[in-house]
Amino acid sequence: MDRRIMGVETEFGVHYSHPGSRPLTPEEVARYLFRPVVEWGRSSNVFVTNGSRLYLDVGSHPEYATAECSTLDELVAVDKAGERVMQELIDGATGHMRADGFTGTIYLYKNNADSAGNSYGSHENYLLNRRTEFRRLSEALIPFLITRQLVSGAGKAIGVRTGAGDGGLHGAGATEAPIPGPPEPHFAFSQRADHVMEGISSATTRSRPIINTRDEPHADAAEYRRLHVIVGDSNMSETTQLVRFGATDLLLRMIEAGRPLGDHQLANPIRAIRQVSHDLTGTEKLELRNGGHRSALQLQWHYLEQATAFVRENGPHHDRVPAVLDLWERTLDAVESGDYSRIDTEIDWAIKHRFLSRYAAKNSLDWNAPRIAQLDLSYHDITPQRGLFSLLQSRGAAARFLDDAAIEDAVDNPPPSTRATLRGRFIRAAREADQTYSVDWTHLKLNDRPLQAISIKDPFQTESDRLDALIGHLRHATGGESASSSVHPV
Ligand code: ATP
Ligand code: MG
Ligand code: MG
Repeated sequence: MDRRIMGVETEFGVHYSHPGSRPLTPEEVARYLFRPVVEWGRSSNVFVTNGSRLYLDVGSHPEYATAECSTLDELVAVDKAGERVMQELIDGATGHMRADGFTGTIYLYKNNADSAGNSYGSHENYLLNRRTEFRRLSEALIPFLITRQLVSGAGKAIGVRTGAGDGGLHGAGATEAPIPGPPEPHFAFSQRADHVMEGISSATTRSRPIINTRDEPHADAAEYRRLHVIVGDSNMSETTQLVRFGATDLLLRMIEAGRPLGDHQLANPIRAIRQVSHDLTGTEKLELRNGGHRSALQLQWHYLEQATAFVRENGPHHDRVPAVLDLWERTLDAVESGDYSRIDTEIDWAIKHRFLSRYAAKNSLDWNAPRIAQLDLSYHDITPQRGLFSLLQSRGAAARFLDDAAIEDAVDNPPPSTRATLRGRFIRAAREADQTYSVDWTHLKLNDRPLQAISIKDPFQTESDRLDALIGHLRHATGGESASSSVHPV
């Protein structure tokens, strides 16, 4: 497999601010957000024309699951496009709410925890060949994922901590494990780390593992498996996403190629992930299962050296590989030296740290100041004219490798290199012909032509005679029901 299918799912935090107006619960706001989606698709669970899935599960965290991508450029563009899709929902909902007398403001946050301690995720999906032994792959990958936050954490200002299992920090019923790290207010690498409760598990919400083992490949199960990594922070920065997905893909390639990466299984993965998050020096020793000790920096340097050698021996498998390795290396250098200046426009935690630490120094504030917590949250606000990240990006304080045109294009158009392109064409044609349809990751069906349902088990497939024929029929179709969609399995 030269190319790999990847996708990322983002759950957003919802907040409604209503000075002088009636309150609304996040659930009520989420229902307003999805009203046009339900009108459009008769369901709060739809696929949109860029091939991505937009849905609202129980609760109040709208989710956008990107279409399948096979390049990092596609993946980051379609993920950033999701923020624009969500902004359109905010704009629509604001109008409806005003009409109902709710004059407050809706905020959507691409972050991982709310002030009540609930956590929500950023889930990565990587296609694997079924031949790779999954357990071995997961075990080799977990120490990398636990220490990857040095490179791809979103950063978090940590206020006063009241002790182990602190509900305010870790959520009701989270873990009883003591939280390592300094008791005083400080800055941590990750938002998600304190909420992770298990190494590998088949449950996502209950136990919040690092890797979810539920076996749903959304592809030919005889050939493929889908790796579901649910430990990551939601990223705002394009360049951070590039190194996060790019480095993880390189690790997977080495494991798939059978390259020995050494036995670095951690004695206590959950304790380790928290230790790493709360130690900005990267030097605290983590206990290994085999009795040894390694710091997060040592482990990350090891993986980077292995990846660099692997690329030297096998050649880069895409043209962003040099950029991934370069940013990965500069980030480890920055953590090691404590000089963040060479990455503080490129790596989320460092971009955020630079802004917050300067602001705190100027205003004589500590990491636990309410204003710092507000600005930390604002970094993840997806509304362009208001969100801190977006303002920093417009001032050149956050680097990027895509441009607005690429992201705008990804709002309407699917990634061209995967089956998402077929899904996008199908949805567009069905809507233009005013036909009802049902779609999921592997199926396309017009509701009144069930016998012509199309199954696309190969996620790399980009052409289909059957789809061409179906779209040909549609173009000649006249009348019919009004367009709607649902994602019920065909
Ligand atoms: P849920 O989140 O509802 O529990 P789920 O894990 O199946 O279910 P979805 O929200 O439907 O997740 O998102 C699936 C993600 O997997 C999408 O980002 C999609 O692009 C990606 N994906 C789909 N097929 C594959 C595949 N064969 N390999 C890797 N990723 C895939
Ligand atoms: Mg999902
Ligand atoms: Mg999922």
